[in-house]
Amino acid sequence: MEPIAYSVPTSAEQAVSELMSEAGACYVAGGTSLFDLMKLRVERPSRLIDITRIGYDAISTSGSELRIGANATMSNVAENPTIARDYPILTEALLKGASQQLRNMATVGANLLQRTRCSYFRHGAGAIASAGSIYPCNKREPGSGCAAIGGLDRTQAVLGVSGACTAVSPGDWPVALTALDARINIFGPNGRRDLPVSGLYRLPGNTPHLEFDLKRGELITEIIIPKTASGLHSTYHKVRDRESYAFALASAAVALELNGWKIEHAHVALGGVATRPWRAPETEQFLIGKTIRRETALEAARLAFVNAQPGRHNGFKVELGIRTLADALMIASERTRTV
Ligand SMILES: Cc1cc2nc3c(=O)[nH]c(=O)nc-3n(C[C@H](O)[C@H](O)[C@H](O)COP(=O)(O)OP(=O)(O)OC[C@H]3O[C@@H](n4cnc5c(N)ncnc54)[C@H](O)[C@@H]3O)c2cc1C
Repeated sequence: MEPIAYSVPTSAEQAVSELMSEAGACYVAGGTSLFDLMKLRVERPSRLIDITRIGYDAISTSGSELRIGANATMSNVAENPTIARDYPILTEALLKGASQQLRNMATVGANLLQRTRCSYFRHGAGAIASAGSIYPCNKREPGSGCAAIGGLDRTQAVLGVSGACTAVSPGDWPVALTALDARINIFGPNGRRDLPVSGLYRLPGNTPHLEFDLKRGELITEIIIPKTASGLHSTYHKVRDRESYAFALASAAVALELNGWKIEHAHVALGGVATRPWRAPETEQFLIGKTIRRETALEAARLAFVNAQPGRHNGFKVELGIRTLADALMIASERTRTV
């Protein structure tokens, strides 16, 4: 039994100060991700700082930007009627993530920081040490190796992989936010700063244990999404092993600015296939000026996978990813405002 201290600060300032005064402390929001990892002994904090009473849970849809407090639950954001009307891409990404019970607890800020579901990362720690089957994982234990490379890699990434790590970035919501050029506001020991959501995620390279561009003590306080016409012609399309709820095998977030049927601007990001939420600039560029038809959508989607590096068992993700993206482009282009 390891004792774990617990505190409930009532302001961001207090939360940051508490975190900075104890080396083993960490923040907890809904706990749906962290508690799992604690049970698996991947995470072993000495203190949990519950940040759900510090505020930052408001949703503002007026003004020139959409602003969502990091502590808003996934359910509350998914149920917001203005977001559902103007940003189907966001509502769909949330509703296709986790289950209703999990979404009632989980916050949209913490969702950005969930760790990979790679089973070698999750199930190789002390929990099964007695069985003598600890798997090496560079993300969990830098320098130990990667059991997924050459191992059971069916769900691993095909884009952004390195010789040290092929773990998939698991979230759906961050993929939609990446497509929409969203940014986050961060409060920490050195004050406030803004960061594009795309800048939060690092490629694994030789340091897969360094996943996020956050400094110790920094809290995500708000998510800010620019308002553009493209929100209306948007979708988050997700393919998974089990439709009721499961992590993505492949997903695509698409938002199109259309003039008639012609694409003026395309926002495209991929999930389930890459080591971080994956923007697809080649696809976006190709689509400008095009009228979307199935063949055009497939051609555009193939461009996103030109540099794919599949392993032994996940080659199917290349074709699946292409078709998922092509389907998403078709859905988004046919979608118009209905309310
Ligand atoms: C069975 C299951 C299925 C799931 N399926 C999906 C899925 O299909 N798609 C998907 O996207 N997600 C899925 N999830 C993940 C779920 O969405 C996350 O567990 C959830 O979003 C995390 O939110 P939380 O508030 O519970 O995070 P917590 O567990 O409280 O925190 C997660 C991490 O974020 C840190 N943290 C929390 N808030 C902040 C903050 N504001 N600033 C800085 N650090 C912070 C914590 O320290 C911790 O490290 C699933 C989870 C489970 C258990």
